[in-house]
Amino acid sequence: MFDRARPATHCQNPGPGPVLHWMRREFRVQWNPGLLLARNLARNSNQPLAVVICLPSSPDRPSTRQREFLVQGLPELEHRLRALGIPLALLHGDPVRELASLVRTVRVGAVTTDFDSLRPGRTDLAALARELDALSVPVWEVDGRNIVPCWLTSDKKEYMARTIRPKIHRRLQEFMDDLPAPAPLERPWDPAQHGALPEADHNLTRTWARQGFSIPAAIWPVAQDQAGPHERATPWPAGGESAGEKRLRRFVQRELPGYATRRNDPVQDASSRLSPWLHHGFVFALHLALEAARSAAPQEDKDDFLEELIVRRELSDNFCFYEPEYDSLGAGADWARATLDKHRQDPRYALYTLEEFEAAQTHQPLWNAAQLQLRTQGVIHGYMRMYWAKKILEWSPSPEEALHIAITLNDRWGLDGMDANGYTGVAWSICGVHDRGWKERPVYGNIRYMNANGARRKFDAAEYVRRHAGVEQARLFAAMKK
Ligand SMILES: Cc1cc2nc3c(=O)[nH]c(=O)nc-3n(C[C@H](O)[C@H](O)[C@H](O)COP(=O)(O)OP(=O)(O)OC[C@H]3O[C@@H](n4cnc5c(N)ncnc54)[C@H](O)[C@@H]3O)c2cc1C
Repeated sequence: MFDRARPATHCQNPGPGPVLHWMRREFRVQWNPGLLLARNLARNSNQPLAVVICLPSSPDRPSTRQREFLVQGLPELEHRLRALGIPLALLHGDPVRELASLVRTVRVGAVTTDFDSLRPGRTDLAALARELDALSVPVWEVDGRNIVPCWLTSDKKEYMARTIRPKIHRRLQEFMDDLPAPAPLERPWDPAQHGALPEADHNLTRTWARQGFSIPAAIWPVAQDQAGPHERATPWPAGGESAGEKRLRRFVQRELPGYATRRNDPVQDASSRLSPWLHHGFVFALHLALEAARSAAPQEDKDDFLEELIVRRELSDNFCFYEPEYDSLGAGADWARATLDKHRQDPRYALYTLEEFEAAQTHQPLWNAAQLQLRTQGVIHGYMRMYWAKKILEWSPSPEEALHIAITLNDRWGLDGMDANGYTGVAWSICGVHDRGWKERPVYGNIRYMNANGARRKFDAAEYVRRHAGVEQARLFAAMKK
């Protein structure tokens, strides 16, 4: 299990004080290797353990709807931790400053934290490690996101799925194993001896008010948007570990059979829809992969699902971890940047601003439907996500602007946004990352092209439009030239 951990500090010897686990991506108690490492460090040194979450004060990272989804899971998290003798402390503000101050105040002996491939997370960890090295307090980083830890799979940015697949499979059996449930700690936190911890406060509105900002009216939490005029009346399930577990069980037991043939049909919507829980770390991909692999579903369905969940997902983390410019055009391959440059001045059939895209006000009902699905459900079906991003390239003044618009909308409205999968998916669609060159066309150059006719051939695209954008847009779509 501890092959999933590596030191972030030069100093590696725990001091005599309590252990802190800084939970920043994996918000769960079961199937959490970071928490298990923290618990073992605490038990071995006969010290107590506390879990710390730091809610950032920036209003848009995470987005409002992600904040709500996360906070929905906190009471359950606190309850489960308390049953193990582990208090949960909620900090607000800059995580490095807040954590370093807490470490000093309670004389912490060691810190563990979740692996994060993204730039803000890497920067915070490096800064915390510098501060704590100066205090001789070790920090351990634990990959509870990938099945094979990101740094063990490969030591470089991989070219495409074909190159990372054998590297993952070489080590997969080593890591495809159950994790033990954490046992209660013998020595609980004693405020008289170890100092009082900032109490967890799960009242979102109060927390935000204290931080000095309110919910922007335009980016309401997903649940409130469900009553939209074109929406199916399916309530969006809540954030949290047991809600994720429930969705996981339902998918594996009832919906995985048929995944291979139905997953690319946005009307059947037959993929797992687990990305919001995976993104927030309410569900560990390892748990999901083991349940899927052990299920009675046909082998073809299991293979297809595990390819997405393991190879595609871990390729995304590899890309963001080894490519610091993962959200800019510089991340594209030489051929992709050259072809986009060559077609920079090509006339565009239509041009839209960020606001027009955001309001789903393009001439193409199919695109509008995808954008409305993002706004109302917090996700877009996987097939439509590719089409959605490619049309942003086609209808933006430059590839840089297209990248900016796609990332802004995905991060702002996606319940699973601000994720390595999102940055990689956008980079795949717009700057050819992990793809090869295709037939040359206006605007796209050699970047792979997609259009509405392709969608019509694959599934009932008019029904998709009707479902997400309403009858009028569906009529318009049906009347459009094939
Ligand atoms: C432009 C664009 C934007 C995207 N934005 C996001 C995003 O913000 N967050 C996000 O999690 N995914 C994103 N993806 C990847 C993919 O579309 C989603 O992970 C998938 O549609 C989520 O639905 P699901 O959980 O039902 O997937 P399933 O098919 O059930 O797959 C299970 C899990 O495997 C992983 N997975 C599946 N497909 C991919 C893929 N192509 N690349 C990497 N991982 C994958 C996801 O974690 C997913 O939840 C994006 C893709 C594109 C092209």
